[in-house]
Amino acid sequence: MAGIKGHELAKAALETAVLDAELRSYGMPLATYLGSVRERVPAGVSVGIRPTVAELLDDVEGYLAEGYVRIKLKIEPGWDLEPVRAVRDRFGADLPLQVDANTAYTLADAEHLRRLDEFGLLLIEEPLAENNLYAHARLQQRIATPVCLDESLHNAADTASAIAMDACRVVNVKPARVGGYLEARRVHDVAYAHGCRCGAAACWRRASAAPRTWRWRPCPAARSPGTRRLPAATSPRTSRSRCVLVDGHLPVPRSPGIGVAPVPETLRRFTKDRRDLYVT
Ligand SMILES: [Mg+2]
Repeated sequence: MAGIKGHELAKAALETAVLDAELRSYGMPLATYLGSVRERVPAGVSVGIRPTVAELLDDVEGYLAEGYVRIKLKIEPGWDLEPVRAVRDRFGADLPLQVDANTAYTLADAEHLRRLDEFGLLLIEEPLAENNLYAHARLQQRIATPVCLDESLHNAADTASAIAMDACRVVNVKPARVGGYLEARRVHDVAYAHGCRCGAAACWRRASAAPRTWRWRPCPAARSPGTRRLPAATSPRTSRSRCVLVDGHLPVPRSPGIGVAPVPETLRRFTKDRRDLYVT
C-alpha cells in the first residue's frame, strides 16, 4: 500500500485484517510473528484534565489501587506545574510519571516547560504543534525531560529524521497512526537502533499484540480492583478473549492472528462494500 499517500487509519485496518487472516492460516499469534518475548506487559493509564487537583489526586489514587504501574497526566497551559507537583508530592518520586500536552504549547513556553524538569518525568509527549520537528528539536535543547513524539511521526522515515535532529528521545509507536503493524515495526526498529525509547507500546516488540493491549487508556467499564476490563474488539456477549489487567499487567494474546475476533453484526453495520480475499 506504499503507493497510497496518507489514509494511515484505513491502511492499518486493511493491513491488519490481511495479516490476521494470513497468521490464522499458519496458526501463528501476531505476538510470535512480531518476535514477542514476554507473556505480559506493564500497563499505564492516561488521566485527563480534571476540574480540581483534589479530583485528580483521587483519580490517580484509584488507578494505582487498581494496579496500574505508570501514570500519564494530560496537561495544558494553566494545568501543568501544579497538578504534576501535587501528584509527585502525594505519590512519591518513584511513581513512573509522564505528561502528554497534545500540542497545547508553543516554543515561547520553553522556559515554563523547563520547570517540569524538577519532577523527574519519564517524558513529555507532543508539547508543540504537530509535525513541527524543528520546534521540538529547539525545545529539546532547552529542557531535560525527554520529548516524546506521537502525532508528528507518520512513518519510519519521519522517525529517523526526528531522531537525527534530536526532536525526540522517545517514540510513541501506534500501528494505526503509521498505517499498520509492518510500518510500526519499522518505526520501532529505527528508534531501537538509535537508542531511542519506545513509549505507549512500551517495548512494543515484546508487547507485540492486538492494538488494545498497547493502549494506556482507562476503560469506562469494569471497576473491580486489579481487574479492569479494556474495550475489546469483541462484544461482551461473544468475547472470550478480552484483555484483563492483572497485577498492573496485560497478558499478550497467544491465540492465532491478532487474538481477538470481530463482531459480525458490528462489521455489517459499517460495511460499504465487500470483497473476498484468499491467502494462498
Ligand atoms: Mg499522545
